[in-house]
Amino acid sequence: MTANGIINVHTGFWPLYGLSSHGALPANAQEQPREHPSVAPDGLRFGRWTTSFAKRMGVDPATIPIVASPGISVEELEQNKTTLVDELMRLHMVAKQNQKKAELAPHRYQNASNAYFVSKLVMEGGQTFEGVNIESGLENTICSERVAAGNAETALRNQPLPNDPGQANPKVKMLLLANQTLGGHAAPCPCCMEWMGQHRYFSPDTMILSLRKDEAFGKLVLKATTLKDMLPLNGPKQPSLANGPVQTLPAEYTGKARQIITQKNISEYQLRAMMQQAWQTYHYARIGQLAQKNQAAAVLVGGQVYAAPKLGWHTARFHEDPDTTAATVGIQTQNHRNAWYAAQGYALAPSPKVDAVAYYGEDENYPRITGLGKMAYPGFGGKDTLVVTIRNDRLFVSTIGDHFNTDYFPASQAASSI
Ligand SMILES: [Zn+2]
Repeated sequence: MTANGIINVHTGFWPLYGLSSHGALPANAQEQPREHPSVAPDGLRFGRWTTSFAKRMGVDPATIPIVASPGISVEELEQNKTTLVDELMRLHMVAKQNQKKAELAPHRYQNASNAYFVSKLVMEGGQTFEGVNIESGLENTICSERVAAGNAETALRNQPLPNDPGQANPKVKMLLLANQTLGGHAAPCPCCMEWMGQHRYFSPDTMILSLRKDEAFGKLVLKATTLKDMLPLNGPKQPSLANGPVQTLPAEYTGKARQIITQKNISEYQLRAMMQQAWQTYHYARIGQLAQKNQAAAVLVGGQVYAAPKLGWHTARFHEDPDTTAATVGIQTQNHRNAWYAAQGYALAPSPKVDAVAYYGEDENYPRITGLGKMAYPGFGGKDTLVVTIRNDRLFVSTIGDHFNTDYFPASQAASSI
């Protein structure tokens, strides 16, 4: 410990990489924090290569339109367009090379999904970190965004502690994302959106950039968005708990939610009944101590309400989402009934969808973006699924589409295969 009580980082950190062969610290050890090889002091000059990757791939950056979400300075992007397009093309080439390597040596490089992503984080100070997606089967994968953030964290933790312990964390200014096709899911997945939305490295203004084959334009576009544009309702929410009876809470609707309620002929009574069942399930979950922080969800499937608690050993790592559990039970119960009718000679009805989902729980980040992301898939409910939460002692009714502003989600089930 030093005199001011802060752990002496030099004796703590240098043995990891700075010891000379006879075990003594170099004389100037404190003045030499390890430099990451890809430091870009001016932020946007990424490397030493001189060949234009865009040109090599037959792409002229000048002809690529910018599609930016509101709040982004398009002029600034225009100024840096050649550099950004060039770098995104390079990342795309790396992704293609990784796919090629996987074909040649599948035992070593192949991803279960056969998707190859490369992410690059540009920190506010100009440092850059890259990552690729790593997959251990289809169910347990780490996306390139989080691998890049892991590389950043690993490198930055090897640096000395800041003099001022209250100094802000380094923030990610830009995330550049590419895959081997420049199409499909070249946008952060819900797990990453949730992770970035809560992680200290990212800010609501972190910009996410990708090159995509855009159907509307019929060609490559440079897409730019920010985390806050992507997740307009994100941020610390209040726990979804009610201080009074659910039946008496005033209700508040988003415009899209009102439209869906009219279109699907869903009543406020049904939404309150769902919340009431989620409330009841939550209290049973508390009695049973089914999770560290208890949560419950109820879904509306085919006019019926199905509720489920969260089952989890830890807050998030090992758990079953209550919304997906309730939806699975609801859909499967009705499929059983439909199958019975089909066995009697009636036409087989299509699998029902989730019309609405209500959340009740004590975590301030509930409902989870990942849960909503699963629910956004067409097979479950799609982006028009109603979302009922309690905010400021009001029943807040939105749609999943209100929570996400991203083209990650496919419009139909068929389009979801990559
Ligand atoms: Zn992801």
